[in-house]
Amino acid sequence: MAIIKVQKGTKDILPQEMPVWHFMEEKANEIFTKYGAKEIRTPIFEATELFARGVGDTTDIVNKEMYTFEKSERSLTLRPENTAGVVRSFIENGMHRLPAPVKLWYKGPMFRYERPQAGRQRQFHQVGVEVFGIKQPTADAEVILMAVNYLKALGLNDLTVELNSLGCPDCREEFKKHLKDVIRPYLPKLCEDCQTRFEKNPLRLLDCKSPECQEIYSKPEIQKVIQGDFICEECSNHFEELKGYLDTLGIKYERNKLLVRGLDYYNRTVFEIKSNNLGSQNAVCGGGRYDSLVKNLGGEDVPAIGFAMGMERLASLLGEKPEEKLKAFVISNNIQEAVKYTEELRSKGYTCEFDLANRKFVKQLEKASKVAKYAVILGEDELAANQVTVKNLETGKQETFNRNELILS
Ligand code: ATP
Ligand code: MG
Repeated sequence: MAIIKVQKGTKDILPQEMPVWHFMEEKANEIFTKYGAKEIRTPIFEATELFARGVGDTTDIVNKEMYTFEKSERSLTLRPENTAGVVRSFIENGMHRLPAPVKLWYKGPMFRYERPQAGRQRQFHQVGVEVFGIKQPTADAEVILMAVNYLKALGLNDLTVELNSLGCPDCREEFKKHLKDVIRPYLPKLCEDCQTRFEKNPLRLLDCKSPECQEIYSKPEIQKVIQGDFICEECSNHFEELKGYLDTLGIKYERNKLLVRGLDYYNRTVFEIKSNNLGSQNAVCGGGRYDSLVKNLGGEDVPAIGFAMGMERLASLLGEKPEEKLKAFVISNNIQEAVKYTEELRSKGYTCEFDLANRKFVKQLEKASKVAKYAVILGEDELAANQVTVKNLETGKQETFNRNELILS
């Protein structure tokens, strides 16, 4: 019979990869908890409307990448990101009544119908943080600090923080107008996507990956507009203050005026963290401020800022971690005693197995040497004397203990 294969753009995370995943998840809990963040888990699917309104219907995600299906005449979508879901939950559960800031973190699978390639899957995982209720740039600095320190805790160093300010909707309008004016003469030469972006979401023009478009955008008159400081005084003060905090914290960053981010809801601060050791999909973290999203989704006027990291990209930077061996493998021809003693060692906190297939002694020893650090032998002599023989399978050294006094290092 034909075998059924895993779907294109999806992957099993196999047992031998699990140590790295556990490491990423445990560190997330440890680090984000230190900053007072609480974990939240929202459903994998939500009303399609949530993403159309929350992510923005001019984005690639909503236009091209969503897994949408109908059930009982409802349009549902597998979450392509988790900010919209977390905001929905924040509103629905009245979290604006909690003392601000409300800091939440999450981890889990996301789904985007994209062309699979290295570092880009259709089901992938993100770990992220959202901080609600603070409009001051201290929150921006704290969120960037949480991202940087999480990556540091994972042992990842060769990273660059890129920073930009998109301004507020008012000053952004000014910028969009100038940008469109200067790009308009080149409009017929732009790629199809950019032709649409030009009208719908001109900021996203800067994000285009086509070399032809990028060549146009690098023309001096266009660069002059891009590199010019368009943001208003208030937005500019916010940005300067943020940079001051980052300097105080010793976080290095680079200003990247082309950084606009894919989602519609960002205002003021946006940032990305890029690895210098990944290929073209080198962004491990993307984030930004989204002060109008809670209100746009029907909540109170609550400012917020957050980030999301791609866990597959982190995993590929971390490489494989060795699988932990069992502490002990109990070897005996007396299956009753083997069951009992294995369970006793487990209750003492050791990882432990015995031979479920009840094979010959030599076979059991062979198995033990593959999977465990110690062989714990209950032979006839040992059983008679109420003792166990412990063989260190790495050094070959043997020692005898009283059965109830076994301690394994
Ligand atoms: P890009 O411009 O590369 O498509 P994006 O703006 O769509 O990125 P975000 O929505 O900001 O990405 O997601 C945050 C992070 O999640 C990214 O920096 C990346 O590490 C990861 N990520 C996004 N899409 C994928 C995917 N399809 N496969 C694996 N990881 C992804
Ligand atoms: Mg994308």
